[in-house]
Amino acid sequence: MSSGEGPRAPQAGPAARAFTRVKAAEARRRAAFDRAARDAALAALGRAVRAHEGEILAALAADLGKPAVETRLTEILPVLAEIRHARRHLRSWMRLRRVRPTLAMLGTRAAIRPEPKGTALIIAPWNYPISLALGPLVSALAAGCGAVVKPSELAPASSALIARIVAAALPGDLVQVAEGGVETATDLLAQRFDHIFFTGSPAVGRVVMAAAAQTLASVTLELGGKSPVVIGPGADMRRAARMVAWGKFANAGQTCIAPDHVFVPRTSQDRFLAELERQIGKMYGRRPIASASLARIVNARHFARLKGLIEGALAGGATLAQGGAMEDESLRIAPTVLLRTDAGMAIAREEIFGPVLPVIAYDDLDPVLDQIAAGETPLALYVFERDRAVIERVIGAVSSGTVGINVTLVQYLHLNLPFGGIGNSGLGAAHGLWGFRAFSHERPVIEDRFSALGMLMPPYDAAKARLARLVARLVG
Ligand code: NAD
Repeated sequence: MSSGEGPRAPQAGPAARAFTRVKAAEARRRAAFDRAARDAALAALGRAVRAHEGEILAALAADLGKPAVETRLTEILPVLAEIRHARRHLRSWMRLRRVRPTLAMLGTRAAIRPEPKGTALIIAPWNYPISLALGPLVSALAAGCGAVVKPSELAPASSALIARIVAAALPGDLVQVAEGGVETATDLLAQRFDHIFFTGSPAVGRVVMAAAAQTLASVTLELGGKSPVVIGPGADMRRAARMVAWGKFANAGQTCIAPDHVFVPRTSQDRFLAELERQIGKMYGRRPIASASLARIVNARHFARLKGLIEGALAGGATLAQGGAMEDESLRIAPTVLLRTDAGMAIAREEIFGPVLPVIAYDDLDPVLDQIAAGETPLALYVFERDRAVIERVIGAVSSGTVGINVTLVQYLHLNLPFGGIGNSGLGAAHGLWGFRAFSHERPVIEDRFSALGMLMPPYDAAKARLARLVARLVG
């Protein structure tokens, strides 16, 4: 962190607690946070992101070896697009929404007032460290909330930069950045926030929800898991291979909605693999491990985890269809395709979160759909097929947070769609209007004008008993 931005988060103990308390107190929402002020805050954040574009590219290169094009498309663009979208729609999102009286409520006037929940805690992961910290912040600001943002300690250059960007754009009594690791997150979670927006693993999601139970803060959980790809018998194999290669190997597979593994009809497997090899070659060249278009693994621990998954699968009888090259020093793993993995292997149980793609041949579609449906509900389900009936069969048989048909990843970028998981893959939704709602309390307000409520108040004599029966029959 450069000078002039206050102290860096201490990692443990009373000092950390004092630090996070100060951060939370500083971010208490100011009373007058009207539309103009929200718009100004969003505009200021947008200007700061643009002003730091070069530093964002450098931070992502340092943290993840991320190619500049990928950083522009997956870190800068989503934040700027979210800001632009929020500013354009803020007036209509904030509008008091009048509702018509139901029959029983004739004579009343009612409306829904979207109000800020208050002060939010935003906890972000390392894999898209800028956009997954600042994206939810945009929604919080649009909703009129103050926030404490806790970036991931595993992307330290990005974390420090987020602190600088926020300090440059927004007043400290509105948004604070609390840098640090698990201790800092734990201390923040022990404090009272009005909403907690967490993006990360299902395991830590449970910790966050348990902490929220103590203060009864509402939560949005954007989690992960294993997102399957189902290739149907009528798929365009070239397109499927291209989209899967792009979705899987972008950010070296460290993407929450990356295709985790692929089911392909046995009769099409060879074609799919040949297309996949061609597409990987086109994207990453003859020596993919050295490609400037391929990001690296975030750290040595995750590199060792992925190496263990590959080696464990190969030792258990899986075979290498492509790739397999790994470099400990540079933390790089070439796009790797495995065949004959089986359900007992760690690679079949854990979220892979790296550039390793198991391809699983199938004879009948139904057992595949049953198998997916029996597991945890994935964040994304991808289906490649031309036949509408098959597409509907797959979507109908398997639940998921989001669905991509003949495409991967782009559901994340569509701001008129909610983004989120269900069950093990998350709770609640982000982006656009849904992000605004996550940080808002939809407050119902009802006003009596000329209702006949008084006619039903005690004492309950025979006439009121008749009236109550009549009313119940009329409106029930
Ligand atoms: P993580 O859960 O390990 O960490 C996320 C954040 O939680 C970090 O800021 C970390 O400091 C904090 N944290 C870690 N342990 C904690 C604890 N015990 N108590 C409190 N806070 C703690 O996740 P990660 O490794 O940074 O990210 C990878 C995971 O996130 C994957 O499962 C991926 O699928 C998921 N993810 C989901 C989305 C989405 O939008 N749904 C997006 C990106 C990543």
